[in-house]
Amino acid sequence: MYRVMTVVWKYRNCERSLRIKESFLISRKYSQQETINFAEIPPERIRNFSIIAHVDHGKSTLADRLLEYTGAVKKGQNQVLDKLQVERERGITVKAQSASLFFNSKEKDYLLNLIDTPGHVDFSNEVSRSLSSCQGVILLVDANDGVQAQTVANFYLAFGSDLVIIPVINKIDLKNADPERVCNQLKFLFDIEPDSVLKISAKLGIGIEAVLNAIVDRIPSPPVDRNAKFRALLFDSSYDKYRGALSLIYIKDGSISVGDMISTYHVKKDYEVKSLSVLRPHEVSVNKLVAGQVGLVGCNMRSSKEAYIGDTLYLKGTSVEPLQGFHPSQPMVFAGVYPMDQSQHVNLRSAIEKLVLNDSSVKVDIDTSPALGQGWRLGFLGLLHLEVFSQRLQQEYGAESVITAPSVTYKIILKPTKQNVKDGSNIVFINNPAHFPDPVKVEEYYEPMVLGTIITPDDYLGPIISLCMDRRGVQKNATNIDNERVMLQYELPLCEIIVDFHDTLKTISSGYASFDYEDNGYQQSNLVKLSILLNGTAVDELSSIVHVTKAQTIGKKMVSKLKDIIPRQMVQIAVQAAMGGKILARETIKAYRKDVTAKLYGGDVTRRMKLLAQQAAGKKKMRMVANISVPRETFIDVLKK
Ligand code: GDP
Ligand code: MG
Repeated sequence: MYRVMTVVWKYRNCERSLRIKESFLISRKYSQQETINFAEIPPERIRNFSIIAHVDHGKSTLADRLLEYTGAVKKGQNQVLDKLQVERERGITVKAQSASLFFNSKEKDYLLNLIDTPGHVDFSNEVSRSLSSCQGVILLVDANDGVQAQTVANFYLAFGSDLVIIPVINKIDLKNADPERVCNQLKFLFDIEPDSVLKISAKLGIGIEAVLNAIVDRIPSPPVDRNAKFRALLFDSSYDKYRGALSLIYIKDGSISVGDMISTYHVKKDYEVKSLSVLRPHEVSVNKLVAGQVGLVGCNMRSSKEAYIGDTLYLKGTSVEPLQGFHPSQPMVFAGVYPMDQSQHVNLRSAIEKLVLNDSSVKVDIDTSPALGQGWRLGFLGLLHLEVFSQRLQQEYGAESVITAPSVTYKIILKPTKQNVKDGSNIVFINNPAHFPDPVKVEEYYEPMVLGTIITPDDYLGPIISLCMDRRGVQKNATNIDNERVMLQYELPLCEIIVDFHDTLKTISSGYASFDYEDNGYQQSNLVKLSILLNGTAVDELSSIVHVTKAQTIGKKMVSKLKDIIPRQMVQIAVQAAMGGKILARETIKAYRKDVTAKLYGGDVTRRMKLLAQQAAGKKKMRMVANISVPRETFIDVLKK
């Protein structure tokens, strides 16, 4: 402890002046490097790595420092790799980004390909995708918070992929930083030797050079063959207005040049390479990319289906073995997405198509609904993923949409009949409450489960255990990871955690507990369809599939919530929750007694006109459902607490 404090003190006082000198030298040394020929760097001097960490432990800040230190960007820019508006607004990284850096170690130039990854559990797909093109990772842990739930998940993801792990403790400048304790946690949980752990402050730029040296020294160079036939893994794609789909590729063998004809192994299409570039992190065009490098290819791919993530690219006419792609992610949460009105259908469709190019984990099916018209049923990795998607639809494409209540995918086994056993139609998967079968025909219901990991200071153990029990969780494991912290493992139904579990956990633990989960298969369950009726008409878009023990509580909550959300109208509205014909809860939204505008502003015509205009403007954001105007956010708001 004493040693660390001295180190921090020393850095605080001396490092600053040192850093200024250093950075001056470095920026001079690297300013000419745009002219370096990327293809000249041999594979032995390439390192492909990624930074993985629990959210807020400082990935983006460390990425900024690495970019600055190697002269890729000017000093003082924050979150350089977070380009999307939603990322900057929410301070989270949604989309993995790459940057190629030069670093001079022991008189040799190295090419370091950094792939930034998002930290939120919903985006684990982006993490595993980024890892497929790396040989090593920086496992970043906050010196104050210590190991958190996603640290555990990310560690096992990297460990399971046989990647070299460089453990780094960040934020040693914080007053309450306790790197020794974090070292002990890493030793206890992952058997990481304390001497191999680097201690840095990404914010102050302390220890950055040590990180770069560790990348060069500890991570192996990519196992590639420049003399073999060209093969590359397509691991990400984005959409460009002028150039169509751009694919981010990792070149495993051979080389590729502008003008080459290439083919895709799975999709089986041919293209001419129109542009090649590396990301520094801004695009720098090059004529050639060689094995070991990561770069962008533009070849006029027009639709999202063509840029198949995990596909292998090769030179047209050659025969190669495909590279091992990765498993496509399984969407966990489904929701209907509809245009505000049908005139915007075409606009929304093109926005969804383009966005899906940027985010291949979204699953898209066409769907129609009696109240909302023609739309789509989209599958997401989690609720945050869904919210981010709809926010991007609006911010990046100006497409307004109505989103229905999210649901998970249930498995239902129907009572056997000769026909359905023969053709296998006795097992159905549904994620849309509108397709819930008649209960008399059902033999068994199954719901998706997850294995959740929670890490918390033990002060909050009581409320957290109650929360898990309330969500029908079953404890599988509890371990003390040090004197103050406990790691819990619970088996939980997915539907109980998708909406607000994480928020509630944060609230009851004053923000200290963290959570992550993985898929844990299906389990038999007792499910019912909870319908919502507006003036006696069932509104399928508001109905949900729930566990029988929860029907009453959820029904009550939903009707009282709807009572608050739906504005008063000219007629009285009865809001009811029903389960198989039985009414479980009811609220009434009273009608306006008379024309309020007449009453309030009797004589003043202009004020009255103004009010009517305001009301009309407000109505624009409404949808007519069962002859009642419902604000468009209703379908998603009603499920939140
Ligand atoms: P990410 O979610 O892992 O990308 O984390 P960010 O890089 O966005 O950092 C989260 C927060 O921690 C930001 O407010 C950073 O300014 C802060 N932060 C990052 N590194 C350090 C550090 O070394 N010291 C301190 N005191 N704060 C840091
Ligand atoms: Mg970030």
